[in-house]
Amino acid sequence: MKTIIWDVDDVLNDLTRAWFEDWLRSSGTGCSLKYDQLACNPPHELLGITHAEFLASLDAFRLSGKARDLPPFPETLDWFARYGNRCHHLALTATPLLAGHVSAEWVMRHFARWIRSFGITPSPRPGWPNDHHAAKSDFLLWWGKGDILVDDSPANVAGALALGMDAVLFPRPWNRSEPSIGEALEELTLKAFGEPPATMR
Ligand SMILES: [Mg+2]
Repeated sequence: MKTIIWDVDDVLNDLTRAWFEDWLRSSGTGCSLKYDQLACNPPHELLGITHAEFLASLDAFRLSGKARDLPPFPETLDWFARYGNRCHHLALTATPLLAGHVSAEWVMRHFARWIRSFGITPSPRPGWPNDHHAAKSDFLLWWGKGDILVDDSPANVAGALALGMDAVLFPRPWNRSEPSIGEALEELTLKAFGEPPATMR
């Protein structure tokens, strides 16, 4: 049975879109960009704000209750409903430690039926230690059980591949991945099972 490592933000949920739309409404900015035009992440330079301002706004969103109320991605949730019990699963997020409790609660509330483990390779913040694993590949090397990483970050995908793992790049505007979400999840199904078992189609 394969072990799948799931990124949380922008893979299990649509955090960046929700934050961005909230930021557009609340910041009073004249920004005319659409979510699909966020060609890099972090997107602060595109938005005309500093990296620190972006992180502060995103962290405030994470802690406001709005992140807690995010729904899971329907396509991802559907994948778990169809195939989830055929694999082991770990959620591995780079959320900052100050919001780790929000992410852990959200993952377990929505995905505990399938995801039984939760890890953080924290995005650094002043005053919060990051003294274990700076990159997801560092965590995965220590964890030692991952077969397939699903992540929207090309750097994280490259790190997993460098460890000899398999990986699926989850399509988001900033990674310019061509497949649709549905096609990316089909790719995951093929990597996990070779082909979908007949009873699961
Ligand atoms: Mg992500």
